[in-house]
Amino acid sequence: MEIRNDTMSLNLESIHNFKGKFPKQIWSLFFSEMWERFCFYGMRGMLVFFMIHQLDFKEAEANSQYAATQAFVYAFTFVGGLIADKILGFRKSLFWGGLLMVVGSTVLAVDPHRFFFIGISFIIVGTGFFKPNISSMVGKLYKKNDVRRDAGFSLFYAGINLGALLGGYICVAIGKGFMFSSFIPESSRWNVAFGLASMGMVMSLVNFYFAQNSLGPIGLSPEGKHRVSSGGNRLRKQDLYVYIGTFAAVPVIRMMVSETQYTDYFMFTIGPFTLLYFFWEMSKVNRSARKKLLAALVFMFFSIFFWGIFEQSGGSMSIFADKNLSHYLLGVKLDPNGVNNSGGALFIILLAPIFGLLWIWLNKRKWEPDAAVKFGIGFIFLGLGFCVLFATRFFSENGIASLEIFTLSLLVITLGELCLSPIGLSVMTKLATEKLQGIMMGMWFLSSAYGQYVAGIIGERIASVGEGATPEVRLITYTEGYKILGMYALAAGILLVSVSPWIKKLMQGVR
Ligand code: GLN
Repeated sequence: MEIRNDTMSLNLESIHNFKGKFPKQIWSLFFSEMWERFCFYGMRGMLVFFMIHQLDFKEAEANSQYAATQAFVYAFTFVGGLIADKILGFRKSLFWGGLLMVVGSTVLAVDPHRFFFIGISFIIVGTGFFKPNISSMVGKLYKKNDVRRDAGFSLFYAGINLGALLGGYICVAIGKGFMFSSFIPESSRWNVAFGLASMGMVMSLVNFYFAQNSLGPIGLSPEGKHRVSSGGNRLRKQDLYVYIGTFAAVPVIRMMVSETQYTDYFMFTIGPFTLLYFFWEMSKVNRSARKKLLAALVFMFFSIFFWGIFEQSGGSMSIFADKNLSHYLLGVKLDPNGVNNSGGALFIILLAPIFGLLWIWLNKRKWEPDAAVKFGIGFIFLGLGFCVLFATRFFSENGIASLEIFTLSLLVITLGELCLSPIGLSVMTKLATEKLQGIMMGMWFLSSAYGQYVAGIIGERIASVGEGATPEVRLITYTEGYKILGMYALAAGILLVSVSPWIKKLMQGVR
């Protein structure tokens, strides 16, 4: 795919000096990310169910397998961010990642049973190139101190979730036969479901191809290395190495992802190495920049725990939805797995614009909490959300709990997500030095990888109650686990709010 740079006349300054609440370019990135997430969440929302019902995995095993794939997905965002900073630039990385995701989901569409792990491996590497870099590009639309940045990320986050909502519900519902079952023969339901994910990714790339017209120099090449004027389209030797290296990596990832013990080795290695590398980068900057990077590290550290709890959603909560939830929401028959995959996303879409405007409104009155306090509030909502999840046990019959109360828990958890996740993205772009933008975003997602990993360990414990358990026993076991997680989240929230003045000092005026 060609990188268009025919609009170089549009310079960074004119992009930064936009009028109104949002830069107009944010909409292009919004739609590309929306379709990419459609593909990603569509695919991910099918994994656990598909493994249990189609590949005959045991529940606990499916849970850890799922967590392994997610940990790898997010771990590769670090590699993708690093390569974008040093070699490809954001745009080429994004295209390359998108193409790999198309390949992965198409392979799954062709024969999901046979090519399960190879398809997933392509998705892993592809997401690694795509995901951090599109987020970094959003940051590039703003001047360093533009107070509208958090609002922009909240909007972008709504795009993420619009994709998650549609993909997350439709794909699994088609696969399970909840939707369009009269048109799609049973034998090809999963092929169509994975195929739809692939179509989403194609849409994302087509959209981005045209979006480039309005992006001026943003994302064309790593600053200072490969100047825009030297032509963004030329295939450079180092780019070629990246492309070849990616293909070489796929079989290795395939092997690692299919044997979950490799995930342990991988996770034990990549984190310490990344930290060492990061400390080395930190040693090269001045004192003030170093403090900001340290603050970023504190945010990343806390986010691991947030995602460790939050990300029960695709794992143990997916099994819970399958086995312990009613199929009726306010009298309407719905697939509980679809609700689990997409309910939170729907709430984000409804609430993100309100949150975005709320931050701007609070800022004008000088009441806007700083990022650390927002993170703390995020944890508190997360904790309360898990308490509501625990409470589903009080609204159940024969071990089948109310889908309404479950959905309420998704709402409360989502309030937490909105205080943490888009703020995290935004704060990474603010705290990173110019040269470390991609890497920082990659590290932010690497924390998600650790979160996924932790979530897998916790989820496996919860799911170990096993297939044979009665719905009643399962309900008690799962909700007991959720109660404990809720308590931890509340404690982390209180801790964060109490240490927020210290983090604020480290941030050196960045909010
Ligand atoms: N839900 C968000 C997304 O898909 C954040 C995911 C994460 O960082 N774990 O982008």
